[in-house]
Amino acid sequence: MSKQFDVIVIGGGPGGYIGAIRAAQLGFNVACIDEWKNDKGGPAPGGTCTNVGCIPSKALLQSSEHFEHAHKHFAEHGISTGKVTMDVAKMVGRKDAVVKQNNDGILYLFKKNKVSFFHGRGSFVKAVEGGYEIKVAGAAEETLVGKQVIVATGSNARALPGVAFDEENILSNDGALRIGAVPKKLGVIGSGVIGLEMGSVWRRLGADVTVLEGLPTFLGAVDEQIAKEAKKAFDKQGLKIELGVKIGEIKTGKKGKESKVSVAYTNAKGEAQALEVDKLIVSIGRVPNTIGLNAEAVGLQLDERGAIVVDGDCRTNLPGVWAVGDVVRGPMLAHKAEEEGVAVAERIAGQHGHVNFNTIPWVIYTSPEIAWVGRTEQQLKEQGVKYKAGTFPFLANGRARALGDTTGMVKFLADAATDEILGVHIVGPMASELIAEAVVAMEFKASAEDIARICRAHPSLSEATKEAALAVDKRTLNF
Ligand SMILES: Cc1cc2nc3c(=O)[nH]c(=O)nc-3n(C[C@H](O)[C@H](O)[C@H](O)COP(=O)(O)OP(=O)(O)OC[C@H]3O[C@@H](n4cnc5c(N)ncnc54)[C@H](O)[C@@H]3O)c2cc1C
Repeated sequence: MSKQFDVIVIGGGPGGYIGAIRAAQLGFNVACIDEWKNDKGGPAPGGTCTNVGCIPSKALLQSSEHFEHAHKHFAEHGISTGKVTMDVAKMVGRKDAVVKQNNDGILYLFKKNKVSFFHGRGSFVKAVEGGYEIKVAGAAEETLVGKQVIVATGSNARALPGVAFDEENILSNDGALRIGAVPKKLGVIGSGVIGLEMGSVWRRLGADVTVLEGLPTFLGAVDEQIAKEAKKAFDKQGLKIELGVKIGEIKTGKKGKESKVSVAYTNAKGEAQALEVDKLIVSIGRVPNTIGLNAEAVGLQLDERGAIVVDGDCRTNLPGVWAVGDVVRGPMLAHKAEEEGVAVAERIAGQHGHVNFNTIPWVIYTSPEIAWVGRTEQQLKEQGVKYKAGTFPFLANGRARALGDTTGMVKFLADAATDEILGVHIVGPMASELIAEAVVAMEFKASAEDIARICRAHPSLSEATKEAALAVDKRTLNF
């Protein structure tokens, strides 16, 4: 006998579990199916984000930042310690505990919101009268029927052609979050968000890290001025970043007792190079995941990248089937997935859920942090938009000086004629938190003048935001 639901969500990552909760809040009878297993084989909802993405990476970034502070910066404050050491197993254990808290939190939220959770793989069986039959293959097999289906099956790490992840020496994000001891030499292929964050963790703990990037520009999606400032900081920290490389053969083997990875590549000048490392993280992007969904059974349309084809409102080619998050077009970000999950639940309820792609913030949680929303200066130039720019350095911010963290700046870009904010770009302390104000400002179509006239607590990093807004009109007060 099949179980009937108004809404079935396949995938319990940020897109799926948030969509399921919102649909339940709206009065629907909702099921959420997720196949992720914890180390004991039990359910671990939360998807990539909770299990091997946003949350564990930030836990390790926090631990490694504490280590670096104790190691390098406590002395400036007059604090002396004995030899600072790092127990990597304990750090990884703490990270696992943080992940479990989040998994358990989601299971609790499902209960609280009366979402029926099914642990196993969900796949389409067939379209039925007024909905779809979905099979759950888990510890027990179940058949569900849903009037509406939201697919939120996420993405997987992209491997280099012919170089499979063994998660021992050649690591995806999953293996990169489980390294058991600080490698002497670590290679990272790809200087995107994940490569830089993971490279930073192990660099802070003492690894000699080399990042190889195929593109000739560093962080091409980031405002050039901000990317340059970040690059200077990473160079100073000893993170070696080589741009414009072409990766050749990658071999794994043993050198003495230790296993090694050798990477042959050509540098930007076309010269043949070799990099020998203990571990290699490959972070060259992610591919939409529809493995096991049996999309063909119902004729769900995928594009050439394997992403589910959706319109602006996340409708697929099938009536009553929606798709959200990493498995569809758009930025692969947890908060974008969540926004889409909410919007779809509201659309199913006949409301007008909407995601504003122009105000989705981006953050790279390195030190300094990099965060931005809206358009970059290079985009405005390409688009022929007349703009004004204002920057304010953290060096001139009292709170940043007191924190001992004065790297970077806040940058505002505003329309030359209307003063409407077109983009805000931050590199520096707490950029991840400061950017929220810029997102709110842009959602409300604020002008730089609006932000410049709002009072800030003193001393606070947010004063740098106000000052950068003032700088648009060339009237900073503290610089
Ligand atoms: C190392 C790393 C760090 C990241 N850091 C950040 C960050 O700081 N901020 C940010 O915004 N984003 C970050 N991301 C990206 C973020 O994790 C993703 O954008 C987000 O998880 C996408 O959410 P989703 O719900 O679409 O998919 P996912 O989180 O991938 O969840 C999909 C879920 O569906 C399940 N599933 C798949 N197929 C089936 C099936 N057939 N049946 C049942 N279950 C199925 C999967 O097991 C998984 O649990 C990071 C990613 C990585 C790898």
